[in-house]
Amino acid sequence: MRISDYPFTQEAAEHVRGLGYSLESLLGKTSFKGVRGRAAERVAGALSGTISETKANSDVEHLTELLSYPLARVMVSCLDDPILMRRYALAEAKLAYKRMQHEKAELVNLANDLGIHPRGTGPWKLYFAEYIRAATRMHSPKWKLTNRDLDDGYLTVTEEELKRLMEEVIREKVLKGLPLPVNEKMCSDLAEYLGPLKAELDAVRSRQKADLGAVEEGAFPPCIKKMLADVAKGTNLAHTARFALVSFLLQINMNVEEIMALFNTSQDFDEEKTRYQVEHIAGASGTKYKPPACTTMTTYGNCPGEDELCKRIRHPLSYYERRMRTFTPLKQAQEPPLNPAKGPEERK
Ligand code: SF4
Repeated sequence: MRISDYPFTQEAAEHVRGLGYSLESLLGKTSFKGVRGRAAERVAGALSGTISETKANSDVEHLTELLSYPLARVMVSCLDDPILMRRYALAEAKLAYKRMQHEKAELVNLANDLGIHPRGTGPWKLYFAEYIRAATRMHSPKWKLTNRDLDDGYLTVTEEELKRLMEEVIREKVLKGLPLPVNEKMCSDLAEYLGPLKAELDAVRSRQKADLGAVEEGAFPPCIKKMLADVAKGTNLAHTARFALVSFLLQINMNVEEIMALFNTSQDFDEEKTRYQVEHIAGASGTKYKPPACTTMTTYGNCPGEDELCKRIRHPLSYYERRMRTFTPLKQAQEPPLNPAKGPEERK
């Protein structure tokens, strides 16, 4: 196993520490220009979906690959964007998964480094607690513990499944700790690389917005439909529900005025206060808030109960995005446009 192929491991981190290079030298020394270039390539790859493979053969090339990982994390931290952080973690995990396909005996060492201790020679026996930790975000039925054979605390996984579980642990591991506590000096030293990356990140963001297209109320998740129906009935929404609704609508490209119009039907409509709240959530204070995930919605009593799609997603926005992918013009024709005077459930 080449540690430069798996730079997120404990072993790689110890190796890098042992080399004794300072961050300042990585950021500024001409001899590390190749490292900075590869780090930027890793981040650009995360934005496009795939980090390109390198043909690292010489010691210098291995070192470049190894050192580019911590530097890429610094770049991601300077850009400080949740979408980028998630994409970056996923792209690193995918690259590692691809590289794992060439591992044989060393696969177990890599798994051990990641905190997974498979027994046997494949198919593998995995302790259930390690399995649960790795598979916690894998939703397809085959990963459910109830669908696995469990014998004396151990269950069986194929080599392919083991690699998928490792990929997931790597994703979590890469994401953990991001953003790093970077300072302005570090980020300005990397300006030459961060400028184009920021431009690409902005392009990804606007593509995402454009992908969502026009607002389609028929694609809203049950929680948002229920809140809209409550608002239309004049029911006073709890603070957490109001926050969830406004942040969701902003995220799918509704503007402040359109959202204000929705609330204009509620009994206690206070234009000044509502505008302040909506604009605050929209980012007037510098932070654009994201809608809460389903678990948080459930905790605050804002999830009215799951439908079939809800069981497969973890965020109301994911629900909307998935519904939008299959939203047909016929359905569109059947759905009246969003009207502040009536909630969606009242129209049925
Ligand atoms: S599961 Fe999530 S998307 Fe579905 S209704 Fe509940 S909070 Fe909304």
